[in-house]
This record gives sequence, C-alpha cells and structure tokens, in this order.
Amino acid sequence: MIDPTSDIGEDVDESTAPTCHTCGKKIVQEPDHRVVSWIEESEAEHLHFCDDECREAWSGRRPR
Ligand SMILES: [Zn+2]
Repeated sequence: MIDPTSDIGEDVDESTAPTCHTCGKKIVQEPDHRVVSWIEESEAEHLHFCDDECREAWSGRRPR
C-alpha cells in the first residue's frame, strides 16, 4: 500500500542530481544553477555549476 503522504512528485532525485564541476556540490533546485554546454566531436558536452562564481572559476582556469 502506498502512503498517500509520501512525496512522489519530487522534481529532482538527489542521487541523479548533477554536481558542480568546480566545488562538487550537489545541485538540487539551486536558483543560481548554471549550465555550460558546447559541441565537441559532434557530441554535446555540458557542465553544471552551482552559481556564476563557480562557472567563472572554471572558465578562468581554462588553457588558451
Ligand atoms: Zn560550485
């Protein structure tokens, strides 16, 4: 029997939530969540960041 009070409608499951590429924090309904995506060898790549600061920390480290 299913408990009617259990939250079946959860948006994000913590076990499948993305993690911030810079600090490794789980991104679960982060309002400042950033995603950077690009195409590499015809595959779509994307990285998740919990906020702008982490995104900039990553882009600032990229080799030119
Ligand atoms: Zn972060």
